[in-house]
Amino acid sequence: MEPDLRAAWLAAARAPEICAGLKAVYQVIADQIEARGPACWASGRCCNFETTGHRLYVTGLEAAYTLTRVNRPLAQADLDTARARGDCPFLSLNVCSVHTIKPIGCRVYFCDRSAQDWQKDLSERVLELVRKLHDRHAIPYRYGEWRGMLALLSV
Ligand code: SF4
Repeated sequence: MEPDLRAAWLAAARAPEICAGLKAVYQVIADQIEARGPACWASGRCCNFETTGHRLYVTGLEAAYTLTRVNRPLAQADLDTARARGDCPFLSLNVCSVHTIKPIGCRVYFCDRSAQDWQKDLSERVLELVRKLHDRHAIPYRYGEWRGMLALLSV
């Protein structure tokens, strides 16, 4: 990985103005979820990537935002274990252990069928907001698979 990308994302994830911008995007999602009320059965299905064929994609900034706020640093062994299980390194007993700092995909996606009508539009809308946040602050923009992005940032 280009070293300046990692440094740029980690620095951006710690910058108060950028964090406020990302939190504002997360709030847009929270307001929509509250208004629409999709069901979540805490099945962990959306976090079991191999079982469900579901893939989570994030920006480098989002991955850095989570990683700079976790209670304990993510080790390569955690990622290897998650890959072997086919799920997310932050999934614990079918529950997300980083609920308040998880990325956009985890906030927008619900396996509730009633969400399928609107979650694609919401996803596109908020990703556009994140793209603009990158542009405003000259943050390098990359979009990649969750565990891959975490691995790039954890080295
Ligand atoms: S961050 Fe949380 S919600 Fe997202 S895939 Fe991982 S465990 Fe699931």
